[in-house]
Amino acid sequence: MRILVTGGAGFIGSHFIRAWLKAHPADTVVNLDALTYAGSSERLADVDERRHALLHGDICDGAIVEQAIAGCELLVHCAAETHVDRSITNAAKFLRTNIEGTRVLLEAARAAGVKRVIHISTDEVYGPVLNGAVEETAPLAPKSPYAASKAAGDLLAQSYYATYGLPVIVVRPTNCYGPGQFPEKLIPLAITNVLDGRSVPVYGDGQQRRAWLFVTDACAAIQAVIERGALGEVYNVAGESEQPNLQTVGMILELLRASASLIEHVADRPGHDRRYAMRDDRLRALEWQPRVTFADGLARTTAWYRTQEMWWRPLVRQLREDSYHWLNRSAGPSPHQAARSAP
Ligand code: NAD
Repeated sequence: MRILVTGGAGFIGSHFIRAWLKAHPADTVVNLDALTYAGSSERLADVDERRHALLHGDICDGAIVEQAIAGCELLVHCAAETHVDRSITNAAKFLRTNIEGTRVLLEAARAAGVKRVIHISTDEVYGPVLNGAVEETAPLAPKSPYAASKAAGDLLAQSYYATYGLPVIVVRPTNCYGPGQFPEKLIPLAITNVLDGRSVPVYGDGQQRRAWLFVTDACAAIQAVIERGALGEVYNVAGESEQPNLQTVGMILELLRASASLIEHVADRPGHDRRYAMRDDRLRALEWQPRVTFADGLARTTAWYRTQEMWWRPLVRQLREDSYHWLNRSAGPSPHQAARSAP
């Protein structure tokens, strides 16, 4: 089978492609990716090029999407603008890619008669969950422009199932982490800063609670949904290690034998959700469960960044330069925060 993955040069998409090709030796992947600042073809440098074709293009471009999807039976839609802080500084790209890009893909999938469309959404569409944990039927109440754009794409995908019978399934993962994540996100930001002997910015009191999922477990969840999920359904993918961000940073400092004095509390992000929490019984009924504990996954992630400086150093250098220019250009919500991230 030939499948189309969008955003396959990104963090989750690249892990997904590798896992899918391993599990399905007869399949080939078309990877449509605009190679934004977050995309990197190097993430897939080890993948057999006879089974993986990277098509450099924008999901909002109907002509290239039509070309990419031709002959594909499955669409896994990962492409998105994903960094909350950037959505606060400039929401326009988020609305374009996450909503309009999703519409273009859904239309193309209809026209091409794709047999299964997996839309990757996020737990952030529910907004903050202060007590208990939400099921898939909970109302959506996104609080950041990123989350609002993802909620719109999520609902649009569901509407194509209801209206046109397009075989859509929506997946809502919690925070993922692991090797190859762009170093603006909390865990890789903390690791790379500590490796550089720099302070680790923590938003506000650091008591925002997040559950974490190792990226290979997230990819296994997507595979389970593709293979055994029900069309028209939504599946939460919850992590197991809910804890405050401050504790997560503390674990990283310990792993790298660095002093807690590197923690630097900075002004909180506007609209910062205090907690996310989901139930994922529906997914577990498909015989999926996470395999990597947070302690093990964090150790593996830290070890990866220790050995892959060639990959992340140029990205970190660029991030720091960008935030320097932003700082000098704007008096708005501090874009410096783009390099001071929390999920
Ligand atoms: P990422 O930022 O690492 O990668 C996004 C990829 O999309 C990049 O390769 C980028 O080049 C590509 N892209 C962006 N705009 C594009 C466009 N207009 N056309 C084509 N390609 C474009 O993101 P990620 O962390 O891998 O997230 C993948 C998906 O999972 C996203 O939909 C995200 O919302 C969702 N998600 C991520 C997490 C997480 O913790 N990483 C958690 C829940 C949901």
